[in-house]
Amino acid sequence: MTTINFPELEQLERIIEQLGGRAHTEVIERIAFKGQEFPIHCITLGSDRPDVPVLAFFGGVHGLEKIGSEIILSFLETISHLLDWDQEFLARLEKSRLVFIPMVNPVGVYMGTRCNGNGVDLMRNAPIEGEGVTRIFSGHRISSHLPWYRGDPLNMEKEALAVCRIVDQQLFNAPLSIALDLHSGFGLRDRLWFPYASHKTPFAFLAEIYALKTQLDRCYQHHIYKIEPTFQAYMINGDLWDYLLDAFIQRDHNERLFIPLTLEMGSWLWLRKSPLHLFSRHGYFHPLLPHRQQRIFRRHFTLFDFLHRSLLYPEKWAPLTPEQKKTNYQKALAHWYE
Ligand SMILES: [Zn+2]
Repeated sequence: MTTINFPELEQLERIIEQLGGRAHTEVIERIAFKGQEFPIHCITLGSDRPDVPVLAFFGGVHGLEKIGSEIILSFLETISHLLDWDQEFLARLEKSRLVFIPMVNPVGVYMGTRCNGNGVDLMRNAPIEGEGVTRIFSGHRISSHLPWYRGDPLNMEKEALAVCRIVDQQLFNAPLSIALDLHSGFGLRDRLWFPYASHKTPFAFLAEIYALKTQLDRCYQHHIYKIEPTFQAYMINGDLWDYLLDAFIQRDHNERLFIPLTLEMGSWLWLRKSPLHLFSRHGYFHPLLPHRQQRIFRRHFTLFDFLHRSLLYPEKWAPLTPEQKKTNYQKALAHWYE
């Protein structure tokens, strides 16, 4: 079996080389597809102590939405140069850890498909059933030839299991962690989603996410994100982050906090600006003009930085005192659930 090569993977491997000994890099899974091997890379930066906060980035779960992978690669490129001189950033890394899986679904990125090489939608593949969910895009088991195919949730795909392993090893044991999964394709706005996607129950760290939202709203009054539980946009079966969150909560998590977020970039914006987009393969999900692409690369760096600093200095949002927790929870219910 030969190892595949394509532009996004080449870029990723070049960045890994640039990072050299300053990062820990590992091939966490190898996916065989049509006689070739597709590596899934994981890059870790900063402290390896178990008691530091962790921010993790995931891209390319849906291969067609490769803009997510490209943003992470662009961010890693920036970081590889910051490491040369930015003492403040280096000091942050001594007290925290950054984890990156820029291309969760390398076959999908290579092929320009939403699903993996087995025709499975990795964000419908977990053993989680949506409540009252019947639409085909919510995930189905009819045929792998249709999009949103769930595969076998009791025998999850290698790519999904690789994500679960890394989250388990790197995030579940941290006192405070955030996972940010980058997607594109829904609506006109950039959305920041928190659980659940499979039902409308308020999630365990609702008070904290509300406090974090308040912090973002106050500090960056003109930020671009609509923050909401995923189910407000749509409800699905098999959401990987619902599954991981429940797995975390079912453990004795001892005041630890794990918050999975999805950044869903509103790609209809790109479409509106150039309708011809529709006729290209990546059209819906990817900005095709280079200047637009570059703008999107930069657009989210402030958010990444905000999340990193919020994890390092969580006093205002996590953990909260019982009184703050109660107040925030009530406000969050009124804001999102009524
Ligand atoms: Zn997606």
